[in-house]
Amino acid sequence: MWKIHEFAQAAEITTAALAAYVEESQRGTGPVLSRRPPGDLAERLDLRRWMREGGMTPETYQEFLHGFLEAGTRMHHPSYLGHQTASPDFPAALAEFVHGATNNPVAIYEMGASAATVEFEVLRWMLDKVGFPSGEGVLTHGGSLANLTALLAARAHAVPDAFSGGVPRDLALLVPPSAHYSIARAAGIMGLGGRAVVPLDADRLGRIDIAALPAALDRLRRAGRRPMALVASAGATGTGLHDDLRGIGEFCAAHGVWLHVDAAHGASALLSERHRHLLDGIELADSVIWDAHKMLRTSALAAAVLVRRDGDLSKAFQQEASYLFYGDQEHDLLGRAVECTKSEMGLKIFLNLAWRGERGLGDHVAARYDTAHRFWELASQRPAFDCPYEPESNIVCFRYAPGGRDVDHIALREHLLTDGAFHVTSTELADVRHLRVAVMAPATDDKTLHSLLDTIERSPF
Ligand SMILES: *Cc1c(COP(=O)(O)O)cnc(C)c1O
Repeated sequence: MWKIHEFAQAAEITTAALAAYVEESQRGTGPVLSRRPPGDLAERLDLRRWMREGGMTPETYQEFLHGFLEAGTRMHHPSYLGHQTASPDFPAALAEFVHGATNNPVAIYEMGASAATVEFEVLRWMLDKVGFPSGEGVLTHGGSLANLTALLAARAHAVPDAFSGGVPRDLALLVPPSAHYSIARAAGIMGLGGRAVVPLDADRLGRIDIAALPAALDRLRRAGRRPMALVASAGATGTGLHDDLRGIGEFCAAHGVWLHVDAAHGASALLSERHRHLLDGIELADSVIWDAHKMLRTSALAAAVLVRRDGDLSKAFQQEASYLFYGDQEHDLLGRAVECTKSEMGLKIFLNLAWRGERGLGDHVAARYDTAHRFWELASQRPAFDCPYEPESNIVCFRYAPGGRDVDHIALREHLLTDGAFHVTSTELADVRHLRVAVMAPATDDKTLHSLLDTIERSPF
């Protein structure tokens, strides 16, 4: 049994340590990340001895936690400009804590009525935002799994008996080059194989060329193949740019093609008055995914799969398990997800909403998008920087080419990460390596942006 006093003491230690950690991170005085190799770190944190001997106490835990936090990556730090992982808000952190103590897996209603009900209501809210008033949804552990789940729904729509009969060889998936790798991985997992993934024509920034869609579909059908789904990006991972969802949606509707919109990153902009237009036409999709652990400020993971028609998701899975499935189970989410046991993801989204409101979360999205736009303006004003497009979201790609010189951008990135000065990423655009910045933390301000550009200009490159 828990020693309640010990739990309360350890929880207090945790709260104090995390408060100091976030406060320090937001101020941005120390490094944004530590780059110690795992062998070093395991020794420093004494991991093997702890695992072998146990015996941690609130006091030794406090010391361990300090070292653990110190060697991590700080998502609240102004210089955190790396991957699209949220700078988590504290209501979501409280939800993780509650889940950690109560552990009510939500896939079966009787395993946690309150947690499941929160998920139903959060899904209803998300469906409403996307414009699927009579759709259905489920929360999954991440966008990659969400893409797989949505594509399984598309497959069930095209081939209702795929679970028993297998996957026919004529199925094709129309995918833009900007698509997240989890789409190709889902095709592999589903047994469609890489041959089923047909690349769509796109502009030089990876956006789907709408004018080329009729010819692509025509080629496919003349080759005797069936489009299982067409995938569009609403917020492409590399660039943060959006496909023209209305144009694509109208094309798909006219030709009976399942449209899957990967809005893992971008859907949160539906909450911002000024940015909602980027998702115009999303309501024409058959399926959409939306990661709350990117712009809705929850910790990883909390992703939604949303389908426009009620029943399309439930048809994606057709398993028997007599210990779980029997008769009418209208309140169970088991039939809509890959997972059996699921964590209380809805509570994280709910508490952020309950604390900040739709307006507060929308303002968070808008402010990050604005900061990224500001970075683009500042970089564009410096002659050594080349920005290939005006950002639509909080993701900006750029190249550093002082005097037109070709700089090794992988080495430049390494240089920025050394000593934890900045956390930035890189990506290839039209086969050329660019640096990539994703503004995630509310603490990132003009000073940070100038400082990043100055640091690059002063680098030995
Ligand atoms: C992040 C992202 C994913 C993958 O989501 P995970 O939660 O990291 O698995 C898929 N698609 C897009 C467009 C993304 O930005």
